[in-house]
Amino acid sequence: MNVGLKITAKTRVVGIFGHPVHHSLSPIMHNAAFESLGLDYQYFAFDVRPEMLRRAVEGLRALQMVGVNVTVPHKEKVIRYLDQLSPEARLMGAVNTIENRGGQLIGHNTDGMGFIMAFQDTFGQSVKGKRTLLLGAGGAARAVAIQMVSQGVSEMIIANRTYARARKLVKAITEIFPGASALAIRLQGESLAKICLRADILIHATSAGLMLDSLLNILPTSFRPSMLVCDLTYNPPHTPFLKMAAKAGCKTMNGVGMLLYQGTLAFRIWTGQEAPLSVMRTALEQAIQQLPVTSTQ
Ligand code: NAP
Repeated sequence: MNVGLKITAKTRVVGIFGHPVHHSLSPIMHNAAFESLGLDYQYFAFDVRPEMLRRAVEGLRALQMVGVNVTVPHKEKVIRYLDQLSPEARLMGAVNTIENRGGQLIGHNTDGMGFIMAFQDTFGQSVKGKRTLLLGAGGAARAVAIQMVSQGVSEMIIANRTYARARKLVKAITEIFPGASALAIRLQGESLAKICLRADILIHATSAGLMLDSLLNILPTSFRPSMLVCDLTYNPPHTPFLKMAAKAGCKTMNGVGMLLYQGTLAFRIWTGQEAPLSVMRTALEQAIQQLPVTSTQ
């Protein structure tokens, strides 16, 4: 609860549409930011069932809300109800932020750029020219992969349990970026371990959580100390995957930074102001400490 500000008739409303949505940390992060800047905004979580999505989006216009974040399972389906898409949202085929510009609803996607900003902040270097192995081919993996290829990674290898989904993502990448070097492989076996050895960046982007244990049997010999290793998971912040990478001498990054930076980009879209990064980071880290540890997200 944003205790520093009173809700009045002038208070502007933003929020998040998801199903389920009770676990979302975005209300805590954004309300801390509004309070610190003295902005008369409030952020609410709305549990929108799939069959109610169209009416919820119409509600944005009807209630003149500033905008919302969009999360699972609505990121792709919401597109049909919007008036315009940003270039990123169009490339990714998914929207995580809606802006209500005078009744025109514009879909943005800040997930991929959120990852890139977190990467640069954590490692102090860009992804350009680096060979990347991405484990997973779901919505988060797609946003990260497309943004990384657009930022000039030299190679993008997608390893997924369902091989067809990895191939579909590689096909999308090569259609969008015809010169890109992209390859699909299966998320198993010795071939994965070998390919892992040639990667500069290794990213875990599945929702398998601690169930990824079976993979961890393969990977220890594949980490090289020079690798930059990322996990999109933020609960727990120190995943077994990251612990193993750190033990092998790799620099690591968890999913907190991506969550933080995608939020700062959404904040700027809605308010036109720079987000208070350290306030949002502190609110997020404190909230994560209070969470029960989950095996999946
Ligand atoms: P999603 O679209 O449902 O995709 C799930 C992915 O996980 C698919 O590649 C799926 O493979 C794979 N998977 C699930 N269970 C598996 C298992 N037991 N073994 C191997 N692979 C398995 O989910 P998402 O939205 O991309 O989210 C993925 C992760 O990223 C979640 O942990 C989520 O919390 C995290 N995330 C973080 C942020 C952030 O800001 N830090 C943002 C978004 C998501 P198949 O194709 O074979 O099913």
